[in-house]
Amino acid sequence: MHSSSYPDSYYAASATPAPTRPLLQGESETDVCVIGAGYTGLSTALFLREAGMQVTVLEAAKVGFGASGRNGGQIVNSYSRDIDVIERSVAPRQAQLIGQMAFEGARIIRQRISQYGIDCDLRDGGIFAALNTKQMRHLEQQQRLWQRHGHDQVELLDREQLRAMVASERYVGGSIDRSGGHIHPLNLALGEAAAVESLGGLIHEDSPALRIERGTSQLVHTPQGRVKARYVVVAGNAYLGNLLPELATKSMPCGSQVIATEPLDAALAASLLPQNHCVEDCNYLLDYFRLSADNRLIYGGGVVYGARDPADIAAIIRPKMLKTFPQLRDVKIDYAWTGNFLLTLSRLPQVGRLGENLFYSQGCSGHGVTYTHLAGKLLAEALQGQTERFDAFAQLPHYPFPGGRLLRIPFTAIGAAYYDLRDRLGV
Ligand SMILES: Cc1cc2nc3c(=O)[nH]c(=O)nc-3n(C[C@H](O)[C@H](O)[C@H](O)COP(=O)(O)OP(=O)(O)OC[C@H]3O[C@@H](n4cnc5c(N)ncnc54)[C@H](O)[C@@H]3O)c2cc1C
Repeated sequence: MHSSSYPDSYYAASATPAPTRPLLQGESETDVCVIGAGYTGLSTALFLREAGMQVTVLEAAKVGFGASGRNGGQIVNSYSRDIDVIERSVAPRQAQLIGQMAFEGARIIRQRISQYGIDCDLRDGGIFAALNTKQMRHLEQQQRLWQRHGHDQVELLDREQLRAMVASERYVGGSIDRSGGHIHPLNLALGEAAAVESLGGLIHEDSPALRIERGTSQLVHTPQGRVKARYVVVAGNAYLGNLLPELATKSMPCGSQVIATEPLDAALAASLLPQNHCVEDCNYLLDYFRLSADNRLIYGGGVVYGARDPADIAAIIRPKMLKTFPQLRDVKIDYAWTGNFLLTLSRLPQVGRLGENLFYSQGCSGHGVTYTHLAGKLLAEALQGQTERFDAFAQLPHYPFPGGRLLRIPFTAIGAAYYDLRDRLGV
């Protein structure tokens, strides 16, 4: 099991002060035991408490210890693989339901922030930046696709319009989702945890679930306690390890790396991103960046398949940042950290149940800030007997990674290298 303290990130250094939450000791009983206090677990717990169900959340480390407290902070709608791919592989009604939900996660986040007064530096507007005309054509198709599913808030940007929002010469154009935006991700998680507790939900930190005894009512074992629960929701994502071996062959933890510069002079910060939107490019191995509330540039990118921690993160990410913004060559990097997300072969979320009363949602493959919030709602609906929307995701097909346990990492890296090369060549 991993060390329980936060990584040395900008987010941990600027986190809202939070109480120390007790580890689970002795026996307890609840309606739902949620395993993992990232966005998936916290969103589920909050929806369940709002519906009046008893909830106990077990977190192996700290609230937001995983990807939810380390990510790029970009509220990106839709899914890592888009609705057109889903339309080609599932029944029309299922694709229609998933399409309708594609922008719901961002609405849930905004609603949580406003209802519970969460201070997490929310800013509006997420930009998709195209590096070549092929990517621009893709953004045009994507806009039409999203419109067809009822989402018409995305506007296309030509080169000049994009250049007025992002001071980089790299892009040929882009699009902006005004319902997207950015947040301090760890403070969002901490605010959601406080909201769960304000409604009477329990959260135990430093309490890894070691074993689940399954049955009509289930027993979740931690090092010093046990929770008896009618339902269990597993939300450990890339940090879950082998708790549910059934799921492990069809998903693979991957690392992504992020740096934060020193605080920039206000004029320099405003010159880079004059409207303070966040940006991700359209490459398969994409770069993403935005400003923090104290004017740091937070820049992420790169994927490490198999989630080994790279030795020098800044050496990998700083050159990417300078390629986008050469004007930052004299700026110091204050923080560099890594975090793990969970990849599936289809890049669509892996959702379902094992038996009647153990539910899971994981594997949003890189774009998870919005989907995880939606997942919490779907899990809560399913536990209350409304399963249609949950089942739309649960019925998505998933396949094991080729290569088995030994070769799946190099095989996937080779596949990604192929798509990366196509991006570089613009074909
Ligand atoms: C570096 C990075 C940048 C990213 N940037 C973006 C972005 O800008 N926009 C975007 O949309 N997505 C982004 N993502 C993806 C997004 O952050 C994730 O999809 C999302 O946060 C996953 O949330 P989660 O709750 O499912 O998992 P996590 O946040 O990883 O939470 C899982 C939690 O479960 C706990 N846990 C695991 N096993 C156990 C156990 N046995 N018992 C108890 N607890 C356990 C872990 O300690 C952890 O706290 C990024 C991911 C990374 C890593």
